[in-house]
Amino acid sequence: MFDSDLDRLTSPNLEGATDVRRRVFLGSAVAALGGLALWQWKKPAVLEAASAASEPKDVTIVLFSDSGQRLKQVRIAQVIKTAAEWRKQLPSGVFDITRNADTEIAFSGKYWNLHDKGLYRCICCDNAVFSSDTKFDSGTGWPSFYQPIAAQNVRTETDRSLLMTRNEVLCTRCDAHLGHVFDDGPAPTGLRYCMNSAALNFVAAEKSGAKSG
Ligand SMILES: [Zn+2]
Repeated sequence: MFDSDLDRLTSPNLEGATDVRRRVFLGSAVAALGGLALWQWKKPAVLEAASAASEPKDVTIVLFSDSGQRLKQVRIAQVIKTAAEWRKQLPSGVFDITRNADTEIAFSGKYWNLHDKGLYRCICCDNAVFSSDTKFDSGTGWPSFYQPIAAQNVRTETDRSLLMTRNEVLCTRCDAHLGHVFDDGPAPTGLRYCMNSAALNFVAAEKSGAKSG
């Protein structure tokens, strides 16, 4: 569902299933920078996630206004779409990152150097995921936060691709790949949520009428 290869899996004939569980490395010469993955790759795990996603379930998230105000916790249906539907909705680079766990090139995104007040929503489903209040300059070239806007709004999954064990960060509501979380962040959490700008949509506090400061 999140991968064109998956179309084969969803057909009655499952013969291609093992073939698509491969890892595709589209190499990059800059891959070994301090364990940060700059490689482009496809993640076999999306196939498992996608096949499990055939039955949408409810998830718990916290709603936020565009001005960053915490509204309420809700049980809400997961956003489930086919790969074709996501492709239609998202620019191709954004599709590759959010639905196929690709990683944008460091210092290439819109938000790594943004210091404006506001919140960051999932580009796929508008779920609020991070706030400028917890953003810090990590020097990595990716927007970095020490915690999500609400613990419920993102989830993590162990990612053993690229010969590393990392914790992948996904949107709770639509399962978009957002980035990874590492344990070398600043106080108070010691965590570094290393995100892809392309997976996020920034909503400036000023635009929504909130006080900036
Ligand atoms: Zn989402």
